[in-house]
Amino acid sequence: MSKTPKLIKKIAGFIPVWADVLGLAEWKFICVPQKERINCMNEGIEYDMACSPAWRYLEARIFVNVYQCKLLNDDELEACVLHELLHCVLSETEMCDVKSEEHVVSLLVNAFMRRVNGG
Ligand SMILES: [Zn+2]
Repeated sequence: MSKTPKLIKKIAGFIPVWADVLGLAEWKFICVPQKERINCMNEGIEYDMACSPAWRYLEARIFVNVYQCKLLNDDELEACVLHELLHCVLSETEMCDVKSEEHVVSLLVNAFMRRVNGG
């Protein structure tokens, strides 16, 4: 198995765990590997992962920046998955302010990861 399918498999493994915790068990998540770094730009910033939640359909695509994610350790990958899933939760609020959503997501990721790691 080449590195990319392994990476995607690892990322996909974190999804049901956090989907369950966050009440997204009914959702369908599709991992989309992005091999070209040019595809991984969002408002001029290169992301590790990004998502496009369609909460009405309980479905989200998780875009994976393969190049960046290969540089991350397991905890960092898990935190990225958690980050994207939290965007799915918040998508239901249809927050218009992208910056405050980003801020809330970061706060929650830190809180959850501290709890999981017993810190
Ligand atoms: Zn984000």
